[in-house]
Amino acid sequence: MSWTFYRSISSRCIRDSYFGMRGLSNHQLSCCVNTLLQTFYATWELGEILDKWEAAAVKEESCNVPLQLKRVLSAMKSDTPPQAPHRAFLHSLNSNRIRLGSQHDADEVFLSILNLLHHQMDDKHLALEIQNLYKISVETCLQCIDCSSVQTLNTYLLSLPLHVKEDHDSLEGCMTSFFEHQELRGIDCCFCARCEKKTPSKKGLTLLSLPCILSVHLKRFRNSNGDTRKLDCRITFPETIDFSETVKEAFSSDFNQNDCKYTLHAVVVHSGYASFGHYTAYVRERRSQRWYYADDSHVHQASWEEVQRSYGGNHSRGTAYMLMYRRGSKEVVQQPQLCG
Ligand SMILES: [Zn+2]
Repeated sequence: MSWTFYRSISSRCIRDSYFGMRGLSNHQLSCCVNTLLQTFYATWELGEILDKWEAAAVKEESCNVPLQLKRVLSAMKSDTPPQAPHRAFLHSLNSNRIRLGSQHDADEVFLSILNLLHHQMDDKHLALEIQNLYKISVETCLQCIDCSSVQTLNTYLLSLPLHVKEDHDSLEGCMTSFFEHQELRGIDCCFCARCEKKTPSKKGLTLLSLPCILSVHLKRFRNSNGDTRKLDCRITFPETIDFSETVKEAFSSDFNQNDCKYTLHAVVVHSGYASFGHYTAYVRERRSQRWYYADDSHVHQASWEEVQRSYGGNHSRGTAYMLMYRRGSKEVVQQPQLCG
């Protein structure tokens, strides 16, 4: 292969298939859903669960989000996919109030899709398997400051909504703040059953378990006085992270997971403003473990250094908005297998 030819294929953006990665055309402002589809594709455990679902009893196929997701993820794997394999999926979302032609928030759409998968799959066992893939179990503890009585509640999240500080921050810093105790006073006072009135309290959140796929939402959109603005500040995040080292103090006494090492496999990037923007994704391809950048129909190979440009700050074009980590170190991730 001549150098010129090599340069011409390595530097251009390639439409459609590229080493197992496939671009998705923009159809009525679908960049947000296109980006989420790339991250779902990179979360191959999801496709494998959907592949086990027969879906034979689904009546209104065009409105069924899990069925259309199963089909589009399968088409993205195919060597000969149809022209726009995501159209039917976009229309199924449209019939479930995630409208075509509108700007969306990626984290909201991500959670809505998971919710629709849970409710529209007739195989409840598989629906639960998908939920468990993302399920972060937490214990909320509320201690009344007046009488010291404690109320606890076990619940779960499907992505961690992390508050972002406007100066430089890091994923580890955002997570530590998320699990720090907060005092709730004034209008935030909660009802205490023993005091029989609303009282000031201390609220704490501890982790009961971490999922196979940990989704993190960096809350870069902030409301103030009715306006929403975007925080383009720098937030660093590592390619691999060991949560038993970074947020060990957030683990509940019932937390008994040995492997807390995670590897990043997808980053949802937002560029633009709160009122108008564009979504793209960095995703790690399953077999080669290389990073790719997907911007609607354009896909190109990327380096970890390029992914790091989405940290933000320094007027960078796009900033990381959601991060998806998979349990296991890089070496483990290279072995295609379903984690439970
Ligand atoms: Zn009390």
